[in-house]
Amino acid sequence: MRYSALSLLMNGLFGNKAWKPAWRDATPKPHYDVIIVGGGGHGLATAYYLAKDFGISNVAVLEKNYVGSGNVGRNTTIIRSNYLLPGNNPFYELSMKLWEGLEQDFNFNAMVSQRGVLNLFHSDAQRDAYTRRGNAMRLHGVDAELLDRAAVKAMLPFLDFENARFPIQGGLLQRRGGTVRHDAVAWGYARGADQRGVDIVQGCEVTGIRRENGRVVGVETSQGFIGCNKLALAAAGNSSQVASMAGLKLPIESHVLQAFVSEGLKPFIDGVVTFGAGHFYVSQSDKGGLVFGGDIDGYNSYAQRGNLATVEHVAEAGKAMIPALSRVRVLRAWGGIMDMSMDGSPIIDRTPIDNLYLNAGWCYGGFKATPASGFCFAHLLARDTPQETAAAFRLDRFRRGYLIDEKGQGAQPNLH
Ligand SMILES: Cc1cc2nc3c(=O)[nH]c(=O)nc-3n(C[C@H](O)[C@H](O)[C@H](O)COP(=O)(O)OP(=O)(O)OC[C@H]3O[C@@H](n4cnc5c(N)ncnc54)[C@H](O)[C@@H]3O)c2cc1C
Repeated sequence: MRYSALSLLMNGLFGNKAWKPAWRDATPKPHYDVIIVGGGGHGLATAYYLAKDFGISNVAVLEKNYVGSGNVGRNTTIIRSNYLLPGNNPFYELSMKLWEGLEQDFNFNAMVSQRGVLNLFHSDAQRDAYTRRGNAMRLHGVDAELLDRAAVKAMLPFLDFENARFPIQGGLLQRRGGTVRHDAVAWGYARGADQRGVDIVQGCEVTGIRRENGRVVGVETSQGFIGCNKLALAAAGNSSQVASMAGLKLPIESHVLQAFVSEGLKPFIDGVVTFGAGHFYVSQSDKGGLVFGGDIDGYNSYAQRGNLATVEHVAEAGKAMIPALSRVRVLRAWGGIMDMSMDGSPIIDRTPIDNLYLNAGWCYGGFKATPASGFCFAHLLARDTPQETAAAFRLDRFRRGYLIDEKGQGAQPNLH
């Protein structure tokens, strides 16, 4: 059923009894053209674009839990395309363009809000680095504005501009960046894929990958064996575990990242603001809660919760940026499992194993990539060649030395 103002009115008039479930509860068939492991944002977006743009709808998405139970429903909802490196920038800008038309495209309100993303800088060296990044963005046709201290003060007067250690000198602003309602993205893609014939199977854990003569022929699951021509892994924080079922060792570590939501406050932060002197970022949800976070916890884990040392670290950075936060109460906190790659950039590629394809290594920035990741992975699965904006995200780049080290931290996943 198509959502529109008219359908809303008619259903309202007649007691809201005619709404249909957003997607079917599918029972798996014995065989599919493509099986996607992981019903997160990336897996569902891949299924959607496979069916919509590449005419492949004999597809199943297998999700061990329920749709939205992974990072797609746990992130802090920020989207942006403010990247420096040529391997990254066109890809994230493609994603931004897809976000801009997404709600009309999949007929679902995902609350895409281009409220701006401002990165603060606190030293001359940091200003120079941000100027360079802003120039690289503009050369790629991406919007970027360098704001001086007075312009930032006019936007956000409550920041601590006089902080003795981290005085705010200005910021790099991407006005087209912003936030999107995270779980609505999963629901919108699930509904759109289902409408085009894709089977979304929840509560179906992949427990093994079956190979014959070296080629992948299907998966063992908690609902039995399911065959496929191509197997696509989009398991985010569990990527290493799932790939190891095919004997593949990935250049990925799993780490915890925490998020926090405060009690509801009157609106005072219009956009997304990030602290440049530590890792802290904040936006305000439509319900008034401050949504914020900081660094990953920094040790390997598969737990969807973090520890208190990082909570303290995040709170300190937040207070250094906005002193008034010291009186705000935190309502909720949780963690998600990050698939941290060695250079901080993702992988969308075929693997050395026939019929096995990989989408992983999103670190803590994969939500903003969801539309482009889905589109490019669908392109790879359908055509067996990388989509041009994702051509650098190869699995063998670590061996060849073609790293995409956006942060310049080297092969140290806990620092990306
Ligand atoms: C606290 C936090 C804040 C973040 N903030 C941002 C942000 O502001 N902006 C941004 O761009 N990114 C952010 N991220 C990162 C982003 O959320 C992830 O990179 C992205 O969601 C990962 O892709 P996904 O949506 O497909 O993952 P997921 O939703 O995790 O999907 C993977 C799915 O695979 C399933 N799965 C795993 N193993 C199996 C199996 N064996 N069988 C079947 N299914 C399986 C899981 O249950 C899961 O549902 C944040 C992440 C966290 C945790």
